[in-house]
Amino acid sequence: IFHEMKKYQTNKSGNITQMSIPLKPNDDGMVGRECPNTDCILKYFQIGQSIPDEFLKNGNNLSDSNITCPYCGHVDHFQKFHSEDHKKWIESMIHRDMAITIQNMLQNTVKGFKSSSNSGFSCSMSFKPGPLPNVRYYTEEKLKRKVICDNCGFQYAVYGISFHCPFCGKGNLQIHLTRNVEITRVLIEESIKLQSEQMDVAQRMIGNALEDVVGIFEGFHKNIYVYGIHHKFSKEDADKKEERIKVTFQRLDGAQKLMLTDLQYDIFSSISNEDRLFLEEQFLKRHVLTHNLGLVDEKYLEKANYYSKQGSELEILPADVSRALEIVTSIVGRTSQHIIIEK
Ligand SMILES: [Zn+2]
Ligand SMILES: [Zn+2]
Repeated sequence: IFHEMKKYQTNKSGNITQMSIPLKPNDDGMVGRECPNTDCILKYFQIGQSIPDEFLKNGNNLSDSNITCPYCGHVDHFQKFHSEDHKKWIESMIHRDMAITIQNMLQNTVKGFKSSSNSGFSCSMSFKPGPLPNVRYYTEEKLKRKVICDNCGFQYAVYGISFHCPFCGKGNLQIHLTRNVEITRVLIEESIKLQSEQMDVAQRMIGNALEDVVGIFEGFHKNIYVYGIHHKFSKEDADKKEERIKVTFQRLDGAQKLMLTDLQYDIFSSISNEDRLFLEEQFLKRHVLTHNLGLVDEKYLEKANYYSKQGSELEILPADVSRALEIVTSIVGRTSQHIIIEK
């Protein structure tokens, strides 16, 4: 009964026909996959086509193995990770083939119909095939974040950040953290180069770098926390907790309290009190920078450890931003090691 799809048929036993339909990779050589876990939020990711030798050496076959969702860590058989769009595309090809079969059957029936003139009655029949259903257009999404697993070398692409390598399951958040830190370091270095010639541009750049440091702290902790609560609590409870986050992770004490209460982990357990106070000061500066054009306000004076004149311009030093970046990197790295479950 199959026409255009016949070439994909691999096996037939009884009423069951097995087909193996190759998926066309996008320009980056990636093919889309979708996590079958109904609680998974992002679901869609892409995997590369070159399989690490280590895996093939043991006689393994990717299409017959388990893979891991890079977002939620769900482990399941490779064949369960078909995307909804893939399914719709294949269904549309089946519908088209079925329509061809039905039209052919009708055409053959009509051909076999003979009119009789002996009875004094004659008629003729003809069948004009109608338009066939279209095959659904399928294209992979553009995912900007491409990752090469530092454990197995497998290449994949995700929205934003991934917690696991789909192939070996290893926790991969550190790769994203390292890249973010590298970008912020470039900003700091560039601001130093510009200091003598374009002071105002240099100040803006170092301010942006400080905002990045806070962004790394907030963004990574928030995502790790969401991952952690979804592994620990029911979906309903985790969703409620997620709704309450808002900007909590922009504050050091807020982040510490939430992680400690819900995931029993003290994010500051690995740093000295001196580093914690220093970070507090830098976060305070960033607040003034974002909300008061970098001019010292009353709120800053209330909390700051150093005297500044109200209304004066805050001084942001590249060395301070670098130190804050190192401290944040170390904290986030440890938090991710502690919360992310290795697969
Ligand atoms: Zn998932
Ligand atoms: Zn891997």
